[in-house]
Amino acid sequence: MPNYKFIRFPFIKHILNYLQAYSVGFFHLFYPHICMHCGNEELAAANVLCAACEKNLPYTHFLPIEKNSIEKIFWGRVSLHEAGASLFFTKDSIVQSLIFALKYNNQKKAGRLLGNIIGKDILNSQRFKNIDCMIPIPLSKKKQRERGYNQALIICEGIQEKIPHIQILPLVLKHKNAVSQTSKDRIQRTQLSSKSYSIIDKGQIDKKNILIVDDVITTGATIESVCKYILSEARPQSLSVVAAAYTI
Ligand SMILES: [Zn+2]
Repeated sequence: MPNYKFIRFPFIKHILNYLQAYSVGFFHLFYPHICMHCGNEELAAANVLCAACEKNLPYTHFLPIEKNSIEKIFWGRVSLHEAGASLFFTKDSIVQSLIFALKYNNQKKAGRLLGNIIGKDILNSQRFKNIDCMIPIPLSKKKQRERGYNQALIICEGIQEKIPHIQILPLVLKHKNAVSQTSKDRIQRTQLSSKSYSIIDKGQIDKKNILIVDDVITTGATIESVCKYILSEARPQSLSVVAAAYTI
């Protein structure tokens, strides 16, 4: 709570503090701080999920495992150093509530929580140790304007809260013609990908161990095209991939 040092009269400070405390209570009446998934109201301001929902998060435990399900998705498609996703994504689940809140309800703190989860996962893994920087999967300008932010960048910020030395480099941009890639076959997708992206400063990627960060991995098509583009345009030391969730 601010102490209003710049105000010389104690009674004015007292009134301001009283009004602030009152307004917090007042807003809580109409906008109570509730768990993003189950609606439990007993939540501290910094928390996103209640203790029960946090306990029930469906962890994959993939990150420490070589040849895990995420790495297999990319076999024969693009060469990755390591890959993983921290949580399983299923319909009507806690993870869906978090992803939905992040993407469609302006709830950046859901994204930071997902990033914190990935960060802890990396720290508990014996892998992903040489990562220098993160590149969030880019959104098109139009989508980013509509949403106000790139959700993958918010997840990167959450990872960085746990592993501060990993830089965030949002250097890859997505362009208009990067239409939904899921409707295209793989050859068309590869032809499209060279026109769909650009890199702001290739030199910053050279010789670095890069971690590509996304919210959810389903087919891996978008990640594949971004990785292929980076490999065709720059010279990273290695490319790894991590996502908050994996659709099963
Ligand atoms: Zn809950």
